[in-house]
Amino acid sequence: MKYCPHCGAEIADDVRFCPTCGKETVVVVKEADPEFDAQDIADNRMLAMLGYLTMGILPMIGCRNSAFAMHHVNQALWIYIGAMLCSLASGILAFTVIIPILGGIALIVLLVFEIMGIVRALKGSGKYLPFIKNLPVIIK
Ligand SMILES: [Zn+2]
Repeated sequence: MKYCPHCGAEIADDVRFCPTCGKETVVVVKEADPEFDAQDIADNRMLAMLGYLTMGILPMIGCRNSAFAMHHVNQALWIYIGAMLCSLASGILAFTVIIPILGGIALIVLLVFEIMGIVRALKGSGKYLPFIKNLPVIIK
């Protein structure tokens, strides 16, 4: 037996919707940001930060085994991929006028992400940048 998180009614374990209030009984737990070893962060945060400025190349050479640095490399790579797609779409669809404008706005957003990533790497934070959390991992 479990209890409905909305109204508190007792409900069977296998029901998805509460028979009393009709709300969904499964509470979606938000995935936590990854945690990293303190020594890993201390040793590699400079390289992790430089990953944002070098397409991930410096940390890939300097600390390939650092989970913290590779977390930031992934984010940096997604920012680069996003920027490439925005530039490409803006170039090809320049005649539409609206696409290059949207592409320009997206590039500014990506630049903000890049700065956020740099700041977080330096602070030793493994917090995900917006949206990137749901994208596949490129470098493990
Ligand atoms: Zn209920």
